[in-house]
Amino acid sequence: MNLESIVLPGVDPSRPIVIAGPCSAETEEQVLNTARELAARGIRIFRAGVWKPRTKPGGFEGVGSAGLAWLKRVKEETGMYVATEVATKEHVEEALNAGIDMLWIGARTTVNPFAVQEIADALTGVDIPVLIKNPVNPDLELWIGAIERIYGAGIRKIGVIHRGFSSYDKKMYRNLPLWHIPIELRRRMPELPIFCDPSHIGGKRELVAPLSQQAMDLSFDGLIIESHTAPEEAWSDGGQQITPEVLDFVLNMLVIRDVHQTTESLTELRRQIDQIDEQLLELLAKRMRISREIGVYKKEHNMPILQSPRYNEILEKRSEMGAAMDLSTLFVKEILQEIHEESVRQQMIIMNQQ
Ligand code: PEP
Ligand code: MN
Repeated sequence: MNLESIVLPGVDPSRPIVIAGPCSAETEEQVLNTARELAARGIRIFRAGVWKPRTKPGGFEGVGSAGLAWLKRVKEETGMYVATEVATKEHVEEALNAGIDMLWIGARTTVNPFAVQEIADALTGVDIPVLIKNPVNPDLELWIGAIERIYGAGIRKIGVIHRGFSSYDKKMYRNLPLWHIPIELRRRMPELPIFCDPSHIGGKRELVAPLSQQAMDLSFDGLIIESHTAPEEAWSDGGQQITPEVLDFVLNMLVIRDVHQTTESLTELRRQIDQIDEQLLELLAKRMRISREIGVYKKEHNMPILQSPRYNEILEKRSEMGAAMDLSTLFVKEILQEIHEESVRQQMIIMNQQ
């Protein structure tokens, strides 16, 4: 395949390329408010579904074409690129007329070669990036078939989205990640950019961060994440959307490993660890000196060494602080217990001095 980069002008091409926005466009106000908040945090590509494939009839099936005008306003006001899902040739025509910058094909459409071919035909002669989600069932050939149909229509800016695979019993994930499938796709089509959709894989807010990190560890190129200003009130997929603020936090916490890391960068990282260890030891020594001063004070004022309320407070507050910094509570507790025991030993020595 002879592909062109899907990275639009002005978008940072380094990993991860981020697409974010609500599952569905609900109202003009919701779309614009979310877009403004995302743009303020540096997001450059905005997503919102206007035609929603829902499992059962009667639910919210998207606002339809009216939403395209709201996406147009997002472009004008924020300068972000806008992306939406298409499932029929009418969707493609309307989206192109509205100046949508990027299209994606949903998982329920990728399974259907007739639908994908119809979209491909409507795209003939058009130059627009198209992202193809995996089919809902774990069938790599079907996924590749859809990619080939879109490529066959002359589209050269193609990417894929890994959004997990349906299973009968949903346990931890809404859609099983089955990472070996996108990994095999990468082996077969190495030039194809792969996005991860942690929102639809996890189906729960809490899983967005760990799944995004896993995707980065597997060298995926980008992330498409559902973000809503009031996730609890979302008209679709409320449980898996995150606020723009949380999204910003999740993205900042990601560790992006360099695919081409050399031994030089490893040496540099080890040098940083050496420095941090030295700082840790200096801080510990300082803490012990202060502990001994407290020991002297307690001795002079005839106070007991152990003061449980203070110790409990230290353990609780520090564990909370640690958790906010992504440190395991158990780890923080164990370290603090060790430090505390050493402080007590030091103060006992002082108490016993004549
Ligand atoms: C979506 O992105 O909102 C969507 C409908 O996703 P999927 O096709 O992966 O279910
Ligand atoms: Mn959704």
